[in-house]
Amino acid sequence: MDVRRDTDLRPFWLAGRPVTGDAELTVTNSHDGRVVGVASVPTPAQVEEAVAAAHAVSRQAAALPVHVRAEALAHVSRRLSERSEEIAQLITAENGKPILWARGEVGRAVATFRFAAEEARRFSGAVQRLDTEPAAQGRLAYVTRVPYGPVLAITPFNFPLNLVAHKVAPAIAVGAPIIVKPAPATPLSSLVLGEILAETDLPEGMFSVLPVPNDRAGALVEDPRLPVVSFTGSGPVGFAIKDQVPRKHVTLELGGNAAAVVLADADLDWAASRIALFSNYQAGQSCIAVQRVIVEESVAEEFTGKLLSAVGALVTGDPADEKTQVGPLVSEDAAVRVEGWVAEAVSAGARVLAGGTRDGAAFTPTVLTDVPSDAKVVREEVFGPVMVVQRAGSIGEAFAAVNDSKYGLQAGVFTRSLDAAFRANRELEVGGVIIGDVPSYRADQMPYGGVKESGIGREGLHSAMDDLTYEKVMVLTGL
Ligand code: NAD
Repeated sequence: MDVRRDTDLRPFWLAGRPVTGDAELTVTNSHDGRVVGVASVPTPAQVEEAVAAAHAVSRQAAALPVHVRAEALAHVSRRLSERSEEIAQLITAENGKPILWARGEVGRAVATFRFAAEEARRFSGAVQRLDTEPAAQGRLAYVTRVPYGPVLAITPFNFPLNLVAHKVAPAIAVGAPIIVKPAPATPLSSLVLGEILAETDLPEGMFSVLPVPNDRAGALVEDPRLPVVSFTGSGPVGFAIKDQVPRKHVTLELGGNAAAVVLADADLDWAASRIALFSNYQAGQSCIAVQRVIVEESVAEEFTGKLLSAVGALVTGDPADEKTQVGPLVSEDAAVRVEGWVAEAVSAGARVLAGGTRDGAAFTPTVLTDVPSDAKVVREEVFGPVMVVQRAGSIGEAFAAVNDSKYGLQAGVFTRSLDAAFRANRELEVGGVIIGDVPSYRADQMPYGGVKESGIGREGLHSAMDDLTYEKVMVLTGL
């Protein structure tokens, strides 16, 4: 008997129970190639059982007392906190992200569930007077928010815990059953989350975690018993899902080529250090990693010098090392793609100011300039540790450059001017404008999402709870 595989085989979660299927998914570490875990894969019959259970519990879930939902959410937050180091190590192992960032991710997931527990208690309907019009005299509207029903959550590899938390926590808070389909590269953290959810008093069927392969995910997407699809991932997959089920309630949290603007009045040292770090954290594999740096001409020379020093000081290497800031990408294939995009830009005239080299799945923090505006590293989402420095003659030109993108997730503007801040908020075509910091800033309780091809809908606890529910009106007559 192969003892290691026996020990490592992780069951999936079917309607709150640990179950094994008839296939396995092997998870490897992109830094050293070692096997870090084996997840059991459900059979089609087991998937059907999970969907049927979610459907069956739907009405009971919507009627679940708020204190029960809130206590379950608070329990998950506490247990994630108690098991934080073990889970952070698991994220680093399966995703390759440095332990520094993995610990940060677990801390954020602890907060995400804590906020959800608080928000569940606050989330109420409203009473609206209708006697504002003579024809409605004597009538009153009682407005509640009702979950659409069971949610299918499809999540990406880059935040294998907290982006699952961003779907599971609001679903429980509003009383909606949820089925999680994690990314095949990183299913292990979501399976631990399933383990913690199973410790709660939530009813059977309230959650399942099903690591099904991509070619079987379509059946879940199309199942009419799952009226909501909450997707985070790449644009092509997200929009294909939207096209596949146009009548479902589909939320898309997609990619971007986020810009940081450095205006002439900015604190250049702060801007350089933040941009260097947040272009490269998680090896650039964040939908809001800094990809385009747009700096006002008058400070461009000085700023670029500071930026290159900050990039040069980043600690790269083994993600398990406490000091490492930049680890490998999720796979060697991903790093090879990034290498190809950089080579394409260079052959079109770009200059490499730093980095540009690959070693297996690792790509060095890279700074490019003089990049033609139609190069992939400008127009598409790099999802790697690569930034492009562009110059702008004025604030207007800088903001126009930010908007010259098919994406619109978040933008960062380094300035000390209140006028420039409000102008940025008026003019930038994005879901979030971060003043005085990088576009990569996200507080888990704030509304988060994109415009243009960066997505449809909003997450962030309260916004996600709105998104998973519809307003239902009861009119009282004869008052
Ligand atoms: P991806 O689109 O390849 O995969 C995302 C999820 O979709 C995975 O679970 C995958 O298994 C699943 N999937 C793939 N094909 C499918 C299909 N045919 N039917 C149903 N599901 C399918 O994305 P990824 O590489 O895992 O993640 C990176 C992408 O996610 C980037 O584009 C990044 O910008 C985006 N992202 C967006 C946000 C956000 O909040 N806006 C956050 C993180 C990541």
